[in-house]
Amino acid sequence: MKERQPIHPEREKQEILNAYRGLLRAHSSRDKEATRRIRKAFNVAVEAHKDMRRKSGEPYIYHPIAVARIAAEEIGLGTTSVICALLHDTVEDTDITLENIHSMFGPKVASIIDGLTKISGIFDATVSPQAENFRKMLLTLSDDVRVILIKLADRLHNMRTLSSMQQNKQLKIASETLYLYAPLAHRLGLYTIKSELEDLSLKYKEPSAWEEISQKLKKGKAVRQRFISRFILPIKRQLNNLNYIFEVKGRPKSVYSIWNKMRTKNVPFEEVYDLFAIRITLNVPVGAEKSECWKVYSIVTDYYKPNPDRLRDWISTPKGNGYESLHTTVMSPSGKWVEVQIRTRRMDEIAEKGYAAHWKYKTKGEKSQESGLDGWLARIRELLETSAENAIDFIDDFKMNLFTDEVYVFTPEGDLKTLPKGATALDFAFDIHTQVGQKCLGAKVNHRLMPLSHKLRSGDQVEIITSEKQSPKNDWLKFAITTKARNKIKSALKEEKKNIAAEGKEMLARKLKSLKANFNGENIDVLIRKYKTGSALELYFRIAKGNIDLKKLHKTNIAVKNGMISPVSEKKQQKNNSLEQIITRYNGTKDVLLIGDEYQKLDYTLALCCNPISGDDVFGFITVADGIKIHRATCPNATALMGNYAYRVLQAKWVSQSLKEFEASISFEGIDDLGLVNNITSVISAQQNINMKAISFESNDGIFSGKVRVLVHDTDHLDTLIVELKNVDGVHQVERLTEHL
Ligand code: MN
Repeated sequence: MKERQPIHPEREKQEILNAYRGLLRAHSSRDKEATRRIRKAFNVAVEAHKDMRRKSGEPYIYHPIAVARIAAEEIGLGTTSVICALLHDTVEDTDITLENIHSMFGPKVASIIDGLTKISGIFDATVSPQAENFRKMLLTLSDDVRVILIKLADRLHNMRTLSSMQQNKQLKIASETLYLYAPLAHRLGLYTIKSELEDLSLKYKEPSAWEEISQKLKKGKAVRQRFISRFILPIKRQLNNLNYIFEVKGRPKSVYSIWNKMRTKNVPFEEVYDLFAIRITLNVPVGAEKSECWKVYSIVTDYYKPNPDRLRDWISTPKGNGYESLHTTVMSPSGKWVEVQIRTRRMDEIAEKGYAAHWKYKTKGEKSQESGLDGWLARIRELLETSAENAIDFIDDFKMNLFTDEVYVFTPEGDLKTLPKGATALDFAFDIHTQVGQKCLGAKVNHRLMPLSHKLRSGDQVEIITSEKQSPKNDWLKFAITTKARNKIKSALKEEKKNIAAEGKEMLARKLKSLKANFNGENIDVLIRKYKTGSALELYFRIAKGNIDLKKLHKTNIAVKNGMISPVSEKKQQKNNSLEQIITRYNGTKDVLLIGDEYQKLDYTLALCCNPISGDDVFGFITVADGIKIHRATCPNATALMGNYAYRVLQAKWVSQSLKEFEASISFEGIDDLGLVNNITSVISAQQNINMKAISFESNDGIFSGKVRVLVHDTDHLDTLIVELKNVDGVHQVERLTEHL
């Protein structure tokens, strides 16, 4: 933790003023009235926060100033947003009320501050899952998107200053950022902010990986730069000859994206070949953008051979989030593929700052500049209004829509529709109209009959065939991927379920009457618990479907007294097993779960998705059915668990216990050679106390690969074995596996 030395109050005042002036410089408007209003907001915020300090010890006001500066400088927002950012924590944390804000700054500022306050109220509560909060946050999109943009600026500044927080808080905040905020920034087209959020999250989640990659990037910088300047030399010369005004830069990949590639492709840093891209930014008039970009493409490919599979034209058809650029991958003389991005200054600003910049070019004037949102936001609003049942489902659907690339397809009339990659004919039908989706029988794709599950490709022309008799089916959820289609299908299915449940309800009412029990809320609750249906709807539905047999409900398994029923001999189940109760029980016990501590009478098991062994960085996750599960910090599920259920996460660490053994699996790869298997097995058995549980080999055209499961004491023990195996002649790669072979 960083501690700040106390400094002189006068100097502190000066520092605050300097920060404020920096903000004014960053804000593009030189309008007198705008500056006066910002000054007013600044004064109000300084006064309101005057006795507060941040965890780092610095005056609290640094934070809102920094957030306002990010909003102006890095997102390109206007005066209203700067004012709101300055005031964003006042209603939440100080004596200032919303009414005060309203009378000082008017209704628009007040409504944005209201939105921000509501979000933060929800966000600080530790009782409800993050996913639900996130949905609520997105709901405010329907009020004013500036709420979200300022919240992103707020989160970015908190991430930049995360080092002063406690370690377990750092982990939770970083996970949540990676899980929710970075994808959101991405979808809003804020690429720079998205990359920074990802990099900062990684820095706290995987400090050693982050450190290693940053160091290696730094080390290779000189070599890279030499390569880049040699590569762009002829292009530069030619562009100069043709009197272009342009800029050429080598853009390094972010630490996070390198890490991600290493992990998903399972390659070391040295094998990530596209560590950077070349970006050519042209200064040309708007009308000439497209043709000029293609001219430059032609110049680049005069010198270097392009890979025809890697041409991306997002100028003719911009991405859904507004991104425009022309990408090509060409072969350099040294035999390396290099990505070249060609765009104009306007496109570049949109790519960096996202929607805010988009509006700036679309319309003039503050009002329309920030409120004119098209396409995506309209879609988000629509799906929010149909309100998904389950928040986690919603986030998963939503995230899927965030990450996927897009396909462009046409209606029979030639209208262009943008859908996420992987979208099916059914998604297309729902995109046309809910009625078309619900009555959809099949589709003609490029005039050929195709099933509803048919995946669409860019350029397809799709005609939907409907029937009045058709209605949404459960199956459809298997291949509908857009949030809109899924929500509509789910709500239609639910409607149908409700109708069926209505019958069940009547059956139950008759049954209760015959038992001389009342049909009331208390009695229904008893039955919901007895049959573990979770809801009355589900109870009625199962009764109607015959899954719950009412004939078996009689006075031997329930007691009826004065019209009220109660369960018989199910005392055990009443023993505090709701999730909240389990959490309080565990959280009450100790700050850190000590695994292997005999005295800590908590039941935990090691998660099968990542198979931790003693010495791994781990955390505990509270489950309803199985007590505490121990996961590795690097578990593929860790981010989702922490991001969604931070309140169920326990800090955990190992206490030494030399006698216990853990199973770990290792994979290896190398050049096939006589006796290699023998060498490997003898290395393993020569290691002290290591038992092999299983081993498998495969050989393919001279390359062999294998897996082995062993019993080890801890990570040291395992690491030693891995090093020994790497030293075997012919072995190229040895790796610990997440899941057992
Ligand atoms: Mn804040």
